[in-house]
Parts: sequence; structure tokens; C-alpha cells
Amino acid sequence: MDTPVSIAVIGSGPSGCYIAQSLCRSFPESEITIYDRLASPFGLVRYGVAPDHQSTKSIQAQFARLFERDNVRFAGNIEVGVDVSLEELRSIHHIVVLAAGLPADRAVGVPGENLPEVYRAGRLTRLFNAHPLESTEVPRFGNSVAIVGGGNVSIDVLRLLIKQPEDFLNSDIDDAVLAAYVQAPASHIDLVCRSTITNAPSDPVMLAELGRVRGVKFSCADSIEVAEDAPRTVVARAKAIRGLLKVDPGNEIRVEVVLHFGWTPVNINGDGHVDGVELRSVNEDRPNLRLDADSVVTAVGFDFDGGDWHGLGELTANLETGVLDYGLYRTGWIKRGSRGTIAENRSCAKAVAEEIVAGLDSLKQQARPGYGGLPEAVRAKAVDYSDWKRVDSAETAAASADRSRRKFPSHAHMVAIAHSKLAQFSAAPGAK
Ligand SMILES: Cc1cc2nc3c(=O)[nH]c(=O)nc-3n(C[C@H](O)[C@H](O)[C@H](O)COP(=O)(O)OP(=O)(O)OC[C@H]3O[C@@H](n4cnc5c(N)ncnc54)[C@H](O)[C@@H]3O)c2cc1C
Repeated sequence: MDTPVSIAVIGSGPSGCYIAQSLCRSFPESEITIYDRLASPFGLVRYGVAPDHQSTKSIQAQFARLFERDNVRFAGNIEVGVDVSLEELRSIHHIVVLAAGLPADRAVGVPGENLPEVYRAGRLTRLFNAHPLESTEVPRFGNSVAIVGGGNVSIDVLRLLIKQPEDFLNSDIDDAVLAAYVQAPASHIDLVCRSTITNAPSDPVMLAELGRVRGVKFSCADSIEVAEDAPRTVVARAKAIRGLLKVDPGNEIRVEVVLHFGWTPVNINGDGHVDGVELRSVNEDRPNLRLDADSVVTAVGFDFDGGDWHGLGELTANLETGVLDYGLYRTGWIKRGSRGTIAENRSCAKAVAEEIVAGLDSLKQQARPGYGGLPEAVRAKAVDYSDWKRVDSAETAAASADRSRRKFPSHAHMVAIAHSKLAQFSAAPGAK
């Protein structure tokens, strides 16, 4: 290779970080720029993983070491498709890897889904995580909430809704959002899972964790029996649920949680406002069930936006290959769909990095300027890694004694701190 390989990664979430790590190993002489539309790195680790799961978020420390390498640049506050086009990036870098995740909560696809009290889980987890581009309007959950979805994200939402303020010790939850919610918390929550316990996607450890929240009474209207020789996870899930049903809520029951397995919504009821949800038994062995609800949370996965991804046409999941075009690749959720944990993006990135290595010979013919080839005006607005560290320190400094950090829910505020335009880093977040 005559000139260093210039690589652009779009997205600084787990898959962007993992692929940069792999490519650093394959091409130690390469120059890698990780672009992100936000002023902070780490994607959903920062803005999806629940704020009370700090041990999961601690993987940020491992990713941070990547950005401290001389050949890796963080270029935050640059949105591909807005500040720079995908074509422009392809013309200045040898390789472009999309690691931009999936932006859209998947729709359940039933009538009533557009009623005002139907909330998408992605929006809620961004809200509790102080995402700087999320609307700060706190949902009107009402007394009774139906959560539709049986995966770990639905369990995250359930846990956030049943916890009390003192349960968020050392978290980085958005305190304004929490304070608004606990003024009128839900007192009844139905968790509706399409699968039976045997096929449910939830992690038994996450289910068992629910039992440690005080003042909650759990019940389950459906069979929780599983075959004795069922796979270990299935037996563990059934055991976790049996454990929940045995939890003693103490003298004061603050909230009742009813678990439903094997039901799918056919309608979200309400005339102008949600008043319930109608469920059909997946095995069609029981009559339809109607649950009263003041609000509905849908947590059924994330999707491609449907439209044209910056000139690439409509993207769909591809489990086989990360190749999109000559010099253009994808990894992580934008490749596989919204499946898998943070760690699963590592093996995905490794496989795509191998495809990149295999195809490099034909790409390296032409010299490319890399990041320096971007217009000066675009580079001037970028938040680099040392800029981000200023925001990082300001967030830690602004945290109260019982929080790990106080995330600023305003993109403009974060960029101002990053570019040192604020005299007082801990000032109020201000308008978005
Ligand atoms: C609510 C929720 C909770 C989760 N909790 C856990 C958990 O506890 N444990 C676990 O192991 N996994 C968890 N996951 C799964 C995990 O977060 C994903 O596996 C992982 O984040 C996917 O990584 P990614 O890099 O593909 O996407 P993302 O993490 O979404 O990263 C994509 C990045 O691309 C950036 N981007 C998007 N568009 C553009 C653009 N046009 N220009 C520039 N940048 C752009 C985004 O700002 C973002 O930073 C959770 C997921 C969700 C949704």
C-alpha cells in the first residue's frame, strides 16, 4: 500500500467501535475516522441501555481506548446526509462502513397505534437517557399501562416504570423526566408477550431482577409450565417467573404487574385517547382478551427507516454479507436488523472486517485525502475526541452525589461545551 488506507465509519455505537478495533488490527497504518451525528460517542450504549444498568454501560471505557489511538479520529456533530453526503465520504476515503444502527421503532401494525398515548420503547429509553435530540415531553402514562413486547427492551421499560427514585442510585437517568413520572406513576402494568414462555426472547436474569424492586406484586394469567428437558434458558426463564410470582411485595403494594404469554394485540382501543388493548391468543385456544389501559408502550424491535438510505435505496437485513457496493460496507444493526446484544456486534464486525481485508487490493490503487478532504466548514463544526472529553468531564462534574453523571439533554449545549463556548460547564441545559 503506497498511501495509508483511509477508512470512514459512520456511527460510533458498538458496531462502529468494534469494526474500528478490528480494522486497526488488520491495518495498523490506516487512518480511521468515526463520524457521528451526535456530539458524544457510543450510540445506544449511552442512549439505549437503561440508565440503571451502569455495569453494561461500562463498556464505554473499553471503547474510549480506541479513540485515544493516534490513527483513530472521532468526528462527532457530523450527520451523514445532512452535513456531508455519503457520496462525498466515499470520494475521500478508500473504505466507508455504515454502522449507523436502526433509527425507527418497529410498528405493531394494529388499528389505534397512532393514538396519542401509544409510546414507542425507543423513544422512552432515549427520554430516560436524556438523548439530546429526543422531545422532552414526558408521556402521559396514566394509572394503567400495557407494554406490548416480550424482549429485553420491554423488560427495561417495565423496570424503569416500577422503580422508585431511590432505586436509581449511581445511575445517569434524566432526573427531570424521572421527577415528572414519579409524580403520577403507573399502579397497574400488563406486560404482553406474543411468545409462550418457551419461546419468549427475554433474558431470565433480567426477569429475575424485576423481583428486587420493592412494593410490586406480580401475577401471571397464563401457563408457566415448561418441559422438564427444555433448553437451559427456557427452564431458567420459567424459574425466574415462578420466583416473581412468589415475591412478597410487603405491606404497601405500589404497583401490580400482570404477565401475559402467548397473546398478540389486534387493536388498541380508544376514541381519541387510549382506553384499552384487545388481544388475540396466538394459539387461538382462548377467546380474545380486553385489557383496560390508559397508555400503551410498544417494544417490538427496531427497523430500517423504510425509505432511501442516503441514495442506497431501501435497506433490508442481510445476515450473509456486509458488502453493499465497491468500497462500501455495513455492520451491526444496520446490517443484521435489531437483533443481538452489544457483544454480538463484535463477531459481526470481525466478519465484515475480513470481507474488507479480502477486497482491499483493488481499492488501494488510488490515493485518497481522507478526513482532510472534507470542506473546512464541515471540519470546523466537528466535535473531536478531546472536545467530547470536555463534555464528559462537565457531565460528571454536574452530577449530584447519587448519580454517575448528569447528561445534558440538549445537542446545542453539548456542542457549546465541546467547543468551549460556555464559561460554566454545569449551567442549565437550555433549549434544544
Ligand atoms: C433500548 C435498548 C436497550 C438495550 N440494552 C442493551 C443491554 O442492556 N445490553 C446489551 O448487550 N445490548 C443492549 N441493547 C442492544 C445494543 O444497544 C445494540 O446491540 C447495539 O447498540 C447496536 O449497535 P450499533 O452500533 O449497530 O447501533 P447504535 O448503537 O444505534 O449506534 C449507531 C450510531 O450511529 C449514529 N448515526 C446514525 N445515523 C447517522 C448519520 N446519518 N450520520 C452520522 N451518525 C449517525 C448514531 O448517532 C449512533 O451513535 C439495547 C438496545 C436498545 C434499543
